[in-house]
Amino acid sequence: MMRKALLWASTNPFLAERLPRMGFVKRATSRFMPGESLEEALAEAEIMSVKGIGTLVTLLGENLSSIEDADAVLDQYLGVLRDVTKRGLDAEISIKLTQLGLDFGPEIAQEGLRRLAEATSSIVWIDMESSDYVDVTLDIFRNVKLTHSNLGLCLQSYLRRTGNDLENLLPLDPSIRLVKGAYKEPREVAYARKSEVDKHYLRLSHILLNARLNGAAARPVIATHDTRMIESVNRIADELGVQREDYEFAMLYGIERTEQDRLARSGHVVRVLICYGSSWFPWYMRRLAERPANVWFVAKQLFR
Ligand SMILES: Cc1cc2nc3c(=O)[nH]c(=O)nc-3n(C[C@H](O)[C@H](O)[C@H](O)COP(=O)(O)OP(=O)(O)OC[C@H]3O[C@@H](n4cnc5c(N)ncnc54)[C@H](O)[C@@H]3O)c2cc1C
Repeated sequence: MMRKALLWASTNPFLAERLPRMGFVKRATSRFMPGESLEEALAEAEIMSVKGIGTLVTLLGENLSSIEDADAVLDQYLGVLRDVTKRGLDAEISIKLTQLGLDFGPEIAQEGLRRLAEATSSIVWIDMESSDYVDVTLDIFRNVKLTHSNLGLCLQSYLRRTGNDLENLLPLDPSIRLVKGAYKEPREVAYARKSEVDKHYLRLSHILLNARLNGAAARPVIATHDTRMIESVNRIADELGVQREDYEFAMLYGIERTEQDRLARSGHVVRVLICYGSSWFPWYMRRLAERPANVWFVAKQLFR
């Protein structure tokens, strides 16, 4: 119930306009992002790098209200890539195609993605958004991958279709980031029960790791904070004989920090996604929905 309400709130323009202005809500975001500026995000990336943890940098925001905003987002990310190179950081970017103007035409987002891939030799990751965008996201990934190999794509285990999508992508030797999925989806397209989503997650991890072993998945990234999933994926990797350096874990900034450090210390490749930007409301609501206990953390800020 609480999850549904929070996911509903994440798409509500009235709340998106008002809640972020309230001090206690803003204070609570510090748990999930170092700050709104790129400088704060990259300073945190530097701290992570000392621990041997790489980063993914994301500018918050999704569907745009004007096509000009897409140019501004593209410029922002080109700036991130320049700053990352200047600082010599092991940081990659992760973008939403809607932020690159997908709602104004797939060719606009595709051209933006192509320019980003051209501007760096590291992987440009594409986030997966709600299920209506999956087909067009896969098409754009395929089109740009033809000329730029440095692309990675997020796939969601809560979607029933993802097994097929993954099998169809393997001939491209893709870099895939596997997540459970963060949006409110109808039962026809997504598993509703956590046990089903988890079971599918492990099945997809098995396919990915097996593909890595056979040279058909460039970078499998297991993006979850679920320690039972992490343990099971490590077990699958051991059984298949996939080496630690051949797959990665990814988590969000501020979540399961101890586990992030533990994995990095034990020789696993770990990357942490750090967000920045002022449009954090929908993203933040989805983080609360993942763990309704976080709502108490927000409530506590009200009395600080
Ligand atoms: C690097 C990365 C990139 C992502 N990219 C996308 C994307 O492109 N598209 C997309 O749909 N989703 C994306 N997600 C979000 C993902 O789909 C899940 O919603 C999110 O990771 C929570 O699921 P979980 O796998 O951690 O498992 P869950 O079963 O939700 O959680 C397992 C445990 O992790 C901890 N935990 C999980 N979430 C939180 C939280 N918010 N606060 C505190 N503790 C928490 C809790 O201890 C919980 O019991 C991404 C996640 C990561 C880590």
